[in-house]
Amino acid sequence: MEQPQDHRQPDAQPATQHGARSDLVVARPEGLYCPAGDFYIDPWRPVERAVITHAHSDHARFGHRRYLATRGGANVLLSRLPGIALQTLDYGEPLAIGATRVSLHPAGHVLGSAQVRIEHAGEVWVASGDYKLEADPTCAPFEPVRCDTFITESTFGLPIYRWDPPQSVFDSIDSWWRHNASEGRASVLFCYSFGKAQRVLASVDAGIGPIFCHGAVEPLNRAYRDAGVRLPPVGAVAGIPVKDKAVFKQALIVAPPSAQNSAWLKRFGTYSDAFASGWMRLRGARRRRGVDRGFVLSDHADWPGLQSAIRATGAERVIVTHGSVEPMVRWLAEQGLQAGAFDTQYGDDTVEADAAGADEAPATNVTGVTGVTDVIGASVATDATRAINETDADDPP
Ligand SMILES: [Zn+2]
Ligand SMILES: [Zn+2]
Repeated sequence: MEQPQDHRQPDAQPATQHGARSDLVVARPEGLYCPAGDFYIDPWRPVERAVITHAHSDHARFGHRRYLATRGGANVLLSRLPGIALQTLDYGEPLAIGATRVSLHPAGHVLGSAQVRIEHAGEVWVASGDYKLEADPTCAPFEPVRCDTFITESTFGLPIYRWDPPQSVFDSIDSWWRHNASEGRASVLFCYSFGKAQRVLASVDAGIGPIFCHGAVEPLNRAYRDAGVRLPPVGAVAGIPVKDKAVFKQALIVAPPSAQNSAWLKRFGTYSDAFASGWMRLRGARRRRGVDRGFVLSDHADWPGLQSAIRATGAERVIVTHGSVEPMVRWLAEQGLQAGAFDTQYGDDTVEADAAGADEAPATNVTGVTGVTDVIGASVATDATRAINETDADDPP
């Protein structure tokens, strides 16, 4: 039976050690494993059969014998992991795997992202992968799925994380861009090349000026377009000869964070730069980024979003995978739920295809209150920790 004190010790007591013996998902060294179906979910070590929630590099890795993912996410997944043996499912389409019935449901995180629903002997578990609840024109909206046990991410599982409505963020990006263009200055927006970049492209006012993308973003744009997502016309920075570089003065240029401080930026002459990320909620992260503007825009659920998503599942047991694990487990226990944690290798969407080769970068995982990994810098974890104790963790909006 459950030991109530286990709820307070997610790191010391993995959920598998105090769960019922019929657990549909357990933690193994290779990843989250479903014994009844003999498959893994987003495994971090090579396995026979992997069910992939989405194509971010900490969830989708090379080396598995067989892959199962959504049909909508296949383009992106194959662009990241060419040559894999991939079977796809439509959202909601059931598949018998071993003794289980598996289906994939929209997670609202990035194109093709899915929650994995597993049904076995009358019991239902859902593994969330990464998710958000806000509307996003580039992917299907999050679908609440009823279950007995919900395995959730908790990337932004702290009360300081509350997102503004996305449209107000895009309005801010538009005014920043419009203002720069009126002064003949390029607008360089750094954001992650898979997911965030396309969401920005689909949401800004393309009438303000021309839009260009860094070479690392273009393959993802293509995969999104191939999947039917509408993006505005986007030029390739590399395709503009030096004599025509005046075109950049009115332009929005979307680039991965790895391009910051690189010689690649020289061609733009005078420019204003900005960074779009949920981490921009933290003053320290913004300061260290050293950009002119920080736009708080995340593809993960904020604190209220996590809470409402968890409630909507009706689950009596919730297991936290990554992010701010300890505060989330504590909150869950306070709600009277069985709460636990899986120790995983998932980082967050900051570890990703910023540039060729970056895909293989190992995802660091920090469990506990600072579950933060990133290219922003290890200091972000410190910021998150500090933010817990700060009432004024941020500038006023
Ligand atoms: Zn993740
Ligand atoms: Zn992700």
